[in-house]
Amino acid sequence: MPLTHEEKAERARARLLESAKAYSTSTYARKVATIFQRMIRAEAGADPRRYVTAIVNCEVRQVEREIGQCVCITCGRVACWTGNSVGGGEIETGHFLASRRNSILFEETNTAPQCKICNRHGGGEQQLYRRWMTMVRGVAEIERLEKLKTVSRSFSHGELVDMRIGFAARLKAAEATMKRGGR
Ligand SMILES: [Zn+2]
Repeated sequence: MPLTHEEKAERARARLLESAKAYSTSTYARKVATIFQRMIRAEAGADPRRYVTAIVNCEVRQVEREIGQCVCITCGRVACWTGNSVGGGEIETGHFLASRRNSILFEETNTAPQCKICNRHGGGEQQLYRRWMTMVRGVAEIERLEKLKTVSRSFSHGELVDMRIGFAARLKAAEATMKRGGR
């Protein structure tokens, strides 16, 4: 009898859980965060909208992009969602609140595409990022994240594995959407 889809999924989960247990939950959370961040960029790349709101030279602009591209929200730079390997300007996943605390580690609204220059060399361009957040996601969301940042949160291996499976599925779906040209 061939395995059903559910049985396959359950076995895959069990294997992942086994390998996750080789790590502490905090180390494993960082690994899951890497997939989460890649998913954020992939979904931004797969987004069908032609224009993305960004801060360009301290002004709010609508920046044009194509499927597969992300826009740095704090400078307007447009680049492939996977980044490129020739240095400078590739897209990363920038965090509004820089804290890596578990409570906000997987908050999607705390993240947005940013170029390497803004994210690393510009220290995340916090003032510009806050301006963009206020405009695009609103003050209430900023306050929610700031409050959440102060809360302590821990994850079990099982919770992290389930999140990993969910993020990996969304990443795969976004990649498939981009391959189809956004449809
Ligand atoms: Zn930038």
